[in-house]
Amino acid sequence: MITHLIKSSVQELTPYQSARKIGGDGTIWLNANECSTSPNALGLDSLNRYPKPQPDEVILRYANHAGVHPNQVLATRGGDEAIELIIRTFCNPTDSVLYCPPTYGMYAVSSATFDILTKTVPLTADFNLDLPQIEANLNGTKVIFICSPNNPTGNLLARDDILALLAMTKDKAIVALDEAYIDFCLDDSFACELDNFDNLIIIRTLSKAFGLAGIRCGFALANSQIISAMQKIIAPYPIPTPTAIIAANALHDDGIKQMQTHIKTTLDNKAWLIRELTALPVVKKVYPSSANFILVKFDNQIQTGQAVFDKLWAMGIILRNQTTALNLSDCIRISIGTQDENQAVIDALKTL
Ligand SMILES: *Cc1c(COP(=O)(O)O)cnc(C)c1O
Repeated sequence: MITHLIKSSVQELTPYQSARKIGGDGTIWLNANECSTSPNALGLDSLNRYPKPQPDEVILRYANHAGVHPNQVLATRGGDEAIELIIRTFCNPTDSVLYCPPTYGMYAVSSATFDILTKTVPLTADFNLDLPQIEANLNGTKVIFICSPNNPTGNLLARDDILALLAMTKDKAIVALDEAYIDFCLDDSFACELDNFDNLIIIRTLSKAFGLAGIRCGFALANSQIISAMQKIIAPYPIPTPTAIIAANALHDDGIKQMQTHIKTTLDNKAWLIRELTALPVVKKVYPSSANFILVKFDNQIQTGQAVFDKLWAMGIILRNQTTALNLSDCIRISIGTQDENQAVIDALKTL
């Protein structure tokens, strides 16, 4: 059982009973202080009503997409809220969060906002997990955030290493595996391992491959005890009705097909961009990527990464500066855009 890892105050917590949670089979609903009509609904039905805390159709369809049981799915306001909920569900004030830079910045930021101490174990030179160092730092560690494909490096973490980490931390710590980019390489997901490791939580989002960053919808996937614990502390109505409508549509068969077509185009564009970048003298290295972005190291004998970043910025091409991230000097992260956008990046680099 994993429940002993849950923060004691959350174990004891009696969650807020929102009107929708209490339920009922009414024809007259006068229990949530809603307005009985909606003057500002833009033609959408039922915006005067609070949404269901967890929209059924979104949960069912995402479970289907991820290949898990619906009781293993929690819908959140983006993957970022899932990160926050994991810390709030498991970390007592004396527990630590461990993460492996260079990686996504929110593990550190979210921990800091809840006054949770962090430990860092840098990724190895080839951007994989340093398992001996992680093992040496397990004492007091409650949650370990890892990211695969990793942002900003783009690589998948070695599967055997993640399996070893899950076994090493069994009954001791939660492994929160951030799969924000997994739709670009879905066969490499760990969703199929949820039944084997009760300390595994997977973070997902509709912001990347599904192209819906604006609706703020993400998911935590985990065993049902963890999902129930996270449900105790999530806001009463986290998923706005318009978000639920758009998400349910995107997760329907046609939406999934469109997403897959978009991924194919993105991967073709990525292959083109990598070819073009590799041919430029100013580019020292293009790192292997399983995601919809690539990490590029520039040759500082010709132009520093900072100079490249600044010059493209001045031309109105905004990339993600990674030059101050751990072990990423002269590196820039470039999202894969449309063919025209990618062409503009190459043209700009050629003018340097
Ligand atoms: C984009 C991203 C997220 C979450 O994004 P949301 O828009 O909050 O869903 C989480 N993790 C990583 C690594 C990301 O790149």
